[in-house]
Amino acid sequence: MARYKDAKCRLCRREGTKLFLKGTRCFSPKCPIERRGGVPPGQHGQRRARRLSEFGVQLREKQKAKRLYGVLERQFRRYYEQAAKVKKGTGEALLQLLETRLDSVVYRLGFTLSRGIARQLVNHGHILVDGKKVDIPSYQMKPGQTISLSPKGLTINQVKTALAEKDRQIPAWLKRKAAVGKIDRLPKRDEIDANINEKLIVEFYSR
Ligand code: SF4
Repeated sequence: MARYKDAKCRLCRREGTKLFLKGTRCFSPKCPIERRGGVPPGQHGQRRARRLSEFGVQLREKQKAKRLYGVLERQFRRYYEQAAKVKKGTGEALLQLLETRLDSVVYRLGFTLSRGIARQLVNHGHILVDGKKVDIPSYQMKPGQTISLSPKGLTINQVKTALAEKDRQIPAWLKRKAAVGKIDRLPKRDEIDANINEKLIVEFYSR
């Protein structure tokens, strides 16, 4: 399955914000955004930032969302087209679709410390939906479905570390008991703590 292969921290530096793509490192002082304050990558990264046009601002917001959820362009556009069928609240519908991808739900349930690791877990067949193996990270979860880990998945160190994390907040639209999670309902906009202005993304695609 296609995915970003660029250095992950580079993506955060390009967007000037933390996208939490590397697990524990993202929460440590080693995070380049903490150390250098989000200087863009490349040899011209230190130059004073140019003022972006309206289009540039919309484009950057779309790129940021794609990178946060680890989705490539064509698939992201498909999410937008699906969300646009909802007449009111296209932006919220777009974020709901992204949040309810299987890899994102695995991450939000606190089974992993990043969406990248969650995607790997899914790809390697360690995630069960309603008791059956699902190895498609973009699988769209629906309210009422349960998610659990395979016996082998439970022995993976990164999973054990994530499950032992005491401060991890599980969003109210999800429920988790030990290593079994459930989607209670779809998330509302104010429950999605992604630093994204979805209106700009809708404007980008409706040009
Ligand atoms: Fe790298 Fe994580 Fe910091 Fe992003 S948030 S720059 S992925 S350490």
